[in-house]
Amino acid sequence: MRIAVLAVQGAFIEHEIVLRDLDVDCFEIRQSSDLLQDFDGLVLPGGESTVMGKLLMELNLFEPLKNKITHGTPVLATCAGLILLADKLENDKTKHFQTLPVTVKRNAYGRQLGSFQTVAEMKGIGTVPMTFIRAPYIAEAIPDVDVLAKVDNKIVAVRYKNQLAMSFHPELTKDNSIHKYFVQMVRNNIN
Ligand code: GLN
Repeated sequence: MRIAVLAVQGAFIEHEIVLRDLDVDCFEIRQSSDLLQDFDGLVLPGGESTVMGKLLMELNLFEPLKNKITHGTPVLATCAGLILLADKLENDKTKHFQTLPVTVKRNAYGRQLGSFQTVAEMKGIGTVPMTFIRAPYIAEAIPDVDVLAKVDNKIVAVRYKNQLAMSFHPELTKDNSIHKYFVQMVRNNIN
């Protein structure tokens, strides 16, 4: 099994550290030649979605990665990664992959709650620590989207087919259960 981590901007190294701790082989996607390598899963990290979206276009990574996602490659998307997948953004005209049928609100927690931590239940995984940094939340999701977690009645984690996406940063806590769940998704997709 090999997992590709988008590494054009943001908190990608932290995902690689968690994956390597789980003995999973991973490599970075920084330019289109990196896509010549095969991979079974993809991580879209947190960071700044506008910058990442621009770089995806400039580096000719957008179409090939979108193809991979629409053809079923499992994706783990955190924070800005969720924004990249969203079909619609509530407070922004920008659009990116649009493979996940949800509406996302960027920087949804305002200034005072710009960053915060909490602990909440995630369906199929258990109680996990959640670190939010200028985080989005999911304002709307079609019924086919499986809502995995809510915080203060806002949707913060979902699964839709091969896409696992969340508002927060599981790679910034010691709890690796979300990455384990994702690795299992990748394994199931290979078999
Ligand atoms: N605020 C960022 C954005 O809108 C996301 C923040 C994050 O990834 N931690 O892209």
